Amino acid sequence: MAGLTHPNLVVLTGAGLSAESGVPTFRGTYGLWEGHHVEEVASPQAFKAVPEMVHRFYNMRRASLKTVEPNAAHHALVRLEKAWPGSFLHVTQNVDDLNERAGAEKLLHMHGQLKKIRCLNCRNVMHWEEDLDISTVCPECATAGKLRPDIVWFGEVPYHIEEISQALETVDIFVCIGTSGVVYPAAGFARQAASKGAKRLIEINLEATEISSHFTDQRQGTAGEEVPRLVEELLKEVL
Ligand code: NAD
Repeated sequence: MAGLTHPNLVVLTGAGLSAESGVPTFRGTYGLWEGHHVEEVASPQAFKAVPEMVHRFYNMRRASLKTVEPNAAHHALVRLEKAWPGSFLHVTQNVDDLNERAGAEKLLHMHGQLKKIRCLNCRNVMHWEEDLDISTVCPECATAGKLRPDIVWFGEVPYHIEEISQALETVDIFVCIGTSGVVYPAAGFARQAASKGAKRLIEINLEATEISSHFTDQRQGTAGEEVPRLVEELLKEVL
């Protein structure tokens, strides 16, 4: 970026980042699951009314992580993180672990993680790779039936909002990859970045989205092709 040698960079990613790894997006295969809209399964109301069904949905998604690998876009973002001379923050709405498996460290999961669970009794958050059901016993407090996926469901408050807002205060370059721009507050970050003075806002998606008008640079294509290309461009400009 002309004139800046240490620009601050914030990257926001959504389900499109992991689509080429074989993790379905919400607008894709998960749009309807066993005849339900995903919004009806991924909610506190659903967990209260039909916890068995909610556990089944997340057990299936957690187990499917064993069959997928990070793709070229995850790896390129890690290359960017390691080489970037200014501040770098990757905020993901994804609940998979593909960024970590590619080596990401400056990463915030604003919607939680499939491989974490939380106890509604003792409030502990734990790493978890197996199935959960309505009678699973909490390894911390030994109470049965109080464990839930540590996922931010529709209507719940996302994680790390303060830290993300702080990063957006001083962001120079905002990059948004594979998100439909319909789930708030993430959908508002591009506008927030622009209002705080970000000069360059880049969107990568297969198609125009609800928030495309907020970007100075729109790139239509797959994350697997467009992200590595963008990363090389950005690094060439600053290094
Ligand atoms: P979304 O499903 O609403 O939208 C996905 C977006 O990615 C779409 O705009 C689509 O055009 C784009 N896309 C699809 N394939 C792409 C590709 N190969 N390259 C570039 N773009 C591509 O997902 P969202 O905006 O992230 O938001 C919805 C919610 O979905 C989030 O809360 C997230 O937690 C959840 N989710 C996460 C995962 C995951 O962890 N991988 C998967 C499904 C849903």
